[in-house]
Amino acid sequence: MTQYGPVHPHQVQTQLLIGGKWLDGLAGGRIDVFNPYTGKKFVSVAEARAEDVDRAVAAAGAAAPGWAALPAHERGRLLLKLADAIEADTEYLARLEATNTGHPIRDCLALDVPRTVLCFRYFGGMADKLEGSVIPVDAGFLNYLAREPIGVVGQIVPWNFPLMFVSWKLGPALAAGNTVVMKPSEITPLSTLRVAELMQQVGFPDGVFNVVTGYGNTAGARIAEHPEIGKIAFTGSTETGRAIVRASAGNLKKIQLELGGKGANIVFEDAILPAAIGGSAFGMFHNQGQACIAASRLILHERIADEFLEKFIALARSIRLGDPLDSDTEMGPLTSQVHHRRVLSFVEVAASEGDEILCGGRVPDAAALRDGFFVEPTVVRADPRHRVQQEEVFGPFVTVTTFKDDEEALRIANGTIYGLGAGLWTQTLPRAHRFAKNLHAGMVWVNCYKRVHPASPFGGVGESGYGREMGFEAMREYTQAKSVWINVDAQIPPFYKR
Ligand code: NAD
Repeated sequence: MTQYGPVHPHQVQTQLLIGGKWLDGLAGGRIDVFNPYTGKKFVSVAEARAEDVDRAVAAAGAAAPGWAALPAHERGRLLLKLADAIEADTEYLARLEATNTGHPIRDCLALDVPRTVLCFRYFGGMADKLEGSVIPVDAGFLNYLAREPIGVVGQIVPWNFPLMFVSWKLGPALAAGNTVVMKPSEITPLSTLRVAELMQQVGFPDGVFNVVTGYGNTAGARIAEHPEIGKIAFTGSTETGRAIVRASAGNLKKIQLELGGKGANIVFEDAILPAAIGGSAFGMFHNQGQACIAASRLILHERIADEFLEKFIALARSIRLGDPLDSDTEMGPLTSQVHHRRVLSFVEVAASEGDEILCGGRVPDAAALRDGFFVEPTVVRADPRHRVQQEEVFGPFVTVTTFKDDEEALRIANGTIYGLGAGLWTQTLPRAHRFAKNLHAGMVWVNCYKRVHPASPFGGVGESGYGREMGFEAMREYTQAKSVWINVDAQIPPFYKR
């Protein structure tokens, strides 16, 4: 076991970054940021309000022409330098993320930070590969399609993977030549501010990246309605996504929404059970289940359900809850007190609808965990129509149901308003392809769950949102297509016969 040292509050950046300057909000407000393991305030950050968003948008607007005019390989070079700087800062960033979010340090070191580095590298390499195309049109014309940056982009981020989502959003936006105003979640702004410091250190021009740490209904709402923002990339709840779409109507800005999910995870009778059990546990319990793509609905073939559940529950019970800064910890606290209450309220919902709590559903009583926002890994057998099967819990809370045949499995899997991630475990190849085609989801995993990579598009269908992060798709999201017609030697007959 390694116990990682605490981050000292005075080391942490807590101001807004606007036009290359670290500033307080004009109104002088502060937002308390907590450590979810101790339950205590860790630091407070400057509170950005609408007028601070306006300042940030003005700075981003002023920086936009210069940034877009920079040779693409120069933008890429800065992103690659940023990736190197984050990599060099791995341990500090991991401790900071663990302290602010409750993610176990083991996960921060193995997943959050390396994935952030990989993503910035991917988009650093992408910057000078954003080619247009030549389109075969009428004889005598050259028609080409160029991809142009949008200008100022607003990015609104949730609290569940704050560091990694900075890279998912910033990487393609900056590679494509946009400038950015980012609002991290008021609950977890610290790693975003650290990345902003590193961006300054590696030489990003002032105003290219601005951070406004504020609340959703003030700073976030101003970003959504701002007339000089050309696009919003939003990750968060479906409800907030709808509010953003409404607020954006004023200037008809482009919107990209990564919203909630209720991942179906189907285990067929021919699955390799040890792999399915381990993969399902990771898919569900990693990050305390606070993942939009969590495998939150286990859908088990009735012939293997008992054996699967016995072993899955034993595994869930063995997950080591503890101090996020202890390298042996496998599950940390939930990220906020409000969310802790919300997740526990779903245990009551399950009980009130007659669902069977097979394990967990409680706050652990170990003294060492008493101050943190912990919930035991929870497994609940529930009717697919019940609330816990339909609503996103976003905690270490998995529902279970069984099926008799493929048709029933697909019907249950597709039976929610969401369509983000879904997975299946089977050795039958035609079935794997059939389900990959028919699952109502933006991402499907076969014999694995929750795989992500910067080269692979990420996003949902249905009320999980629209648009795609990562991969070449993300570069399309952050650009406008311009079609240019050149009359090379076309003879255009007169249209009017005079
Ligand atoms: P949230 O919607 O409450 O907040 C997300 C962000 O939006 C925060 O920065 C918040 O301050 C801001 N916000 C809130 N109200 C706003 C408003 N009216 N206008 C503009 N901004 C506003 O979500 P959350 O609780 O932070 O995150 C959890 C949710 O995020 C879950 O539903 C989860 O599924 C979803 N999520 C989706 C993905 C995905 O890629 N699809 C990834 C992670 C999380």
